[in-house]
Amino acid sequence: PDILLPKQARYQTTLHAEDGNITDFLNLCQCRCDKILFFTTNILFMSAHIIDGKQIANQLLEEIKTNIIQRLQAGKRAPCLAVILLGDDPASAIYVRNKRLACEKTGIVSVAHNLPASTTQEALFALIRQLNADDHTDGILVQSPLPDHIDETEILALIDPAKDVDGFHPYNIGRLAVRQPLLRSCTPYGVIKMLQASGIALKGLDAVVVGVSNHVGRPMGLELLLAGCTVTSCHRHTKDLAAHIGRADLIVAAAGKAGLIKGEWIKSGAIVVDIGINRLPDGKITGDVDFAVASQRASHITPVPGGVGPMTVATLMENTLKALELREQA
Ligand code: NAD
Repeated sequence: PDILLPKQARYQTTLHAEDGNITDFLNLCQCRCDKILFFTTNILFMSAHIIDGKQIANQLLEEIKTNIIQRLQAGKRAPCLAVILLGDDPASAIYVRNKRLACEKTGIVSVAHNLPASTTQEALFALIRQLNADDHTDGILVQSPLPDHIDETEILALIDPAKDVDGFHPYNIGRLAVRQPLLRSCTPYGVIKMLQASGIALKGLDAVVVGVSNHVGRPMGLELLLAGCTVTSCHRHTKDLAAHIGRADLIVAAAGKAGLIKGEWIKSGAIVVDIGINRLPDGKITGDVDFAVASQRASHITPVPGGVGPMTVATLMENTLKALELREQA
């Protein structure tokens, strides 16, 4: 009997053969052998589904755009995002430009505050207080990294939590920790939305997050906990990273170290999300995961670039719209 068929059908196949139609039976056997060979080949050389973060992000941007058009038609105003950039770091300039383009795409009004790197902390405080008080500003974003003379922790803590669209304020991280999220950290929230859009059920998965920074790794762990995963957080003091990775159903890499996660560590069929962004000496951008080998073992994997990055920008837009809606309801 053919073990690939449901129980009843197996014996039906055998019975037909015994009825005397041996040619049909042999043809059937040939067909089944081909199928088994196909499955075996697929298992031996499994190639992961590449999650297209750009496409999922574009879909989310379209939904936000539609929502804003409906707001305007109802006589309401569009959300407004204030983006503060200090200095002329080229990478920061690219991130800020991408955020401005996403604002244009969705209909969010973006106001740029491009300040010299020499801006004092007091001057930055004054600007944030002014934006906190401005009723038409819904989101305030301070692009990191900030110059050394500025205390980033103090700056982020000064932003009104209701306008903290990056989701970095201790209040918003705390809301996530107690399972009452409001404005959620963009990158971890983007990862969750991307996995949901890919039809991946998270409940019960053994998840490993590599990296425990306040803005990425830590809220990522909280998001996965909220989604029903069993979460392990690894960091620079973790003793045996390979062993943790090898047990994981879901790996989220956020260490900022090219090639840190070896492809052969990954359990066959695991889901791999690479948040890392690393620039190689030849100028190419790569993640933390050895993509070539990992993509032969994983069931799903995100590329770098084109994976988590676009989702971060899209969830920033979602947060800006949400910040306005929440303040309207307050
Ligand atoms: P970070 O430097 O603040 O934190 C890195 C974390 O990795 C730390 O918790 C550290 O303990 C851990 N780590 C470092 N070396 C390790 C090792 N050998 N083994 C295990 N853990 C180790 O960085 P971050 O701000 O959290 O960013 C992490 C990465 O994510 C960076 O590459 C950053 O560029 C990228 N990032 C991407 C997006 C996106 O949208 N795709 C957004 C934010 C950050």
